[in-house]
Amino acid sequence: MKDNNCIFCKIANGEIPSRTIEENDSLRVVLDVGPATKGHALILPKNHSKNLYDLSEETATEVIRMAKKVALKMKEKLNCDGVNLVQNNEEAAGQTVFHFHMHVIPRFENDGQVIGWKPGQPSAEELDAICDLLK
Ligand code: AMP
Ligand code: ZN
Repeated sequence: MKDNNCIFCKIANGEIPSRTIEENDSLRVVLDVGPATKGHALILPKNHSKNLYDLSEETATEVIRMAKKVALKMKEKLNCDGVNLVQNNEEAAGQTVFHFHMHVIPRFENDGQVIGWKPGQPSAEELDAICDLLK
C-alpha cells in the first residue's frame, strides 16, 4: 500500500522523477541526492513500510536480491573497491525518511567516508549475558 504523505512512496511509484538505475514490479532503485560516494543508491519498495519491522518477508527477500545485483553492477561499472549495505531503523539508529530503504554505497580506497562504530570492550560475562538474552 502507498502512503500519500510519503515522499519515498511517490519516488518509488514514479510520481516524483528520480534517477532510477533499476526497477521491477515491487522495487525501484534510485540515486541518493546526498550521496556518501559517487553512485550511492537507495533500494525503495513500491509498497510503504516504515522500516524493517513491518517489511514483508517477501519484500525483504527481494531487497537483498536486488542489493546483490546493484553491488555487482557497481563493481563492474564503477570499479569500486568495496560496497556497504546500510539500513537504518528508527530515529535512534539514524533513520530520517520513514519509508524502508536500503542504502547501497560503493566504496573507494581513501574515499574519506567513515561508516562504522567504536568497538566496545565487554567482559566475557557481559557477552554471555547478552547472548542469553538474545538467543
Ligand atoms: P536514512 O538516514 O537512512 O533515512 O536515509 C535517508 C536518505 O535519503 C539520505 O541519504 C538522503 O540523502 C536521501 N534522500 C532524501 N530525500 C531524497 C530524495 N528526494 N531523493 C533521493 N534521496 C533522498
Ligand atoms: Zn512510503
